[in-house]
Amino acid sequence: MCGIVAYIGKKRAFPIIINGLKRLEYRGYDSAGVAVLNGEMNVFKKKGKVNDLLEFTKGVKIDGTLAMGHTRWATHGAPNDLNSHPHLSGNNRLAIIHNGIIENYGPLKDALKKLGHTFTSQTDTEVLVHLIEEIQKQDGLSLEDAVRVSLTKVEGAYAIVVMDQLDPNKLVAARKASPLVLGIGDDELFLASDATPIVEHTNRVVYINDGEVVILKRNAEYQIVDIDNNIQTPFIQELDLKIDAIEKGDFDSFMMKEIHEQPKSIRDCMRGRINAAEGWIKIGGISELYKDRDDIGRIIIAACGTSWHAGLIGEYLFEELARIPVEVEYASELRYRNPIITPKDVVIGLSQSGETADTLAALNLAKDKGAFLYGIINSVGSSIARLTNAGSYIHAGQEIGVASTKAFTGQVTTLSLMAIELGYKRGTIPKSYYLQLLKELEQIPSKIEKILESTEKIKYIAAEIKDATNALYLGRGYNFPIALEGALKLKEISYIHAEGYPAAEMKHGPIALIDENMPVIVIATNQSAYDKIVSNIQEVKARKGTVIAIVVEGDTEIKQLADHTIEIPNTDEPLTPLLSVIPLQLLSYYIAEFRGCNVDQPRNLAKSVTVE
Ligand code: GLU
Repeated sequence: MCGIVAYIGKKRAFPIIINGLKRLEYRGYDSAGVAVLNGEMNVFKKKGKVNDLLEFTKGVKIDGTLAMGHTRWATHGAPNDLNSHPHLSGNNRLAIIHNGIIENYGPLKDALKKLGHTFTSQTDTEVLVHLIEEIQKQDGLSLEDAVRVSLTKVEGAYAIVVMDQLDPNKLVAARKASPLVLGIGDDELFLASDATPIVEHTNRVVYINDGEVVILKRNAEYQIVDIDNNIQTPFIQELDLKIDAIEKGDFDSFMMKEIHEQPKSIRDCMRGRINAAEGWIKIGGISELYKDRDDIGRIIIAACGTSWHAGLIGEYLFEELARIPVEVEYASELRYRNPIITPKDVVIGLSQSGETADTLAALNLAKDKGAFLYGIINSVGSSIARLTNAGSYIHAGQEIGVASTKAFTGQVTTLSLMAIELGYKRGTIPKSYYLQLLKELEQIPSKIEKILESTEKIKYIAAEIKDATNALYLGRGYNFPIALEGALKLKEISYIHAEGYPAAEMKHGPIALIDENMPVIVIATNQSAYDKIVSNIQEVKARKGTVIAIVVEGDTEIKQLADHTIEIPNTDEPLTPLLSVIPLQLLSYYIAEFRGCNVDQPRNLAKSVTVE
């Protein structure tokens, strides 16, 4: 949610900020803006994408070696020019960019109005910069002290950067529950919401902790303090991020690139964690799960969106293979309903970014109740990764497409490794089945390659159904969550209304919607419920629905019934989601493309939801 980037050094800052904003645009694209300090402070901001801002500033000479920029995902106030960041203080001396929500902005705004402040935007952010101004004025404080004191009066989530026209060799930044990375160059410093704008300049970074304030000065001098002004020792890390990982390369979009990266990302996820020939899985934190407890009472999986669908597959895996009871929770619901969680429970947080606000809050709640926290995360060093007792990175590499693809299959791969290993350790699956699953899991990447080699059929089907206004996705067992995920992908990027259902539930309601205009996508790969799903397809056909079935190679029965079939290679049933999701990702992609939608930046969405 929202990208922020800042620079202080010797180079012309504007192009560095624009480049950084382009890298961060996946986090929000309601508006873009920059503030540049060059003697005086100049602010340029515009509704729309970074390119709209560039168009707006065309022909303007923007010099200056200290600047900051913002790409917004609006929470308070419409996406328009006025509500765009940076926001200015009443005296036009300070400028702020902000990622997050100031929850008590209402009372703060009322109090500031009484002191004579007037506001030009509807944002919560503008209130904060006026508060900093007021505190700076009343107490005669330096910029950093004024920011620090102001933040003690603020509730909510933020990553902010503030500049002061009268203090032209300094930037002050702070974070609480929104990410912020400091990049350290030879004689320059960078700040950003993630490392993507930094990596082309330096690979030395410090991930700023919650509650910390950073003061950036010229000549790469910086200091980190906590909210009480105690100096903190920075932990400098080397970035493990390559520039080609954040570029599209030969692909038209990040989403298509990421769909095609899945064989590699799954191999990376499994590297060093599985060896079928030698018959072992080594996955981080499994032994810790048993530390201080005789047995795992229950697994609770907390997640949002696509990660929640991966969590549901986790439920099927852990319950069937390891016989551990599992509950899968929307993190946003779990955190607000006083759930029963005990120290015997293991709570798994699933989040691509590791910054998802609701998942983070749910894990904090579970921590207070004494549960063991396990994180399945993509972003190294993220808040959830730091909060949890143990965990596994999925090693999918940077995911930039807003609609998640490779992070999803990375999460499912990790959950599969965990469930298979726990099942074997607990004696709930025999060694022969364990070894078979290992062998099958190792072959998943090459089976995905095979699906990706022949996508013409999927493209053809996409063209056939691209004008539909509704679609239904049906699946059973392990593939019920895939039905949900297929429907979500279609909604996200093509704006076609779609619903996922357990196939047998169709007759309890959604069947009323079926007519000749309704494509019904059926995931029919489960051996265990094959006859049942054939009956479900018959029920749809009897009502003239168009059936698109995902089947296992060589299937003959469903081919006779369905209007279209897409074949995937065979595998063991618990692993089918890793294959069946691929054609559904591609189907949504092509439909969106035929409809002229921007697949990487779907309307109203943003990646990494760091607000509630
Ligand atoms: N709450 C702020 C706004 O609505 C910041 C949102 C963001 O993170 O982009 O402008």
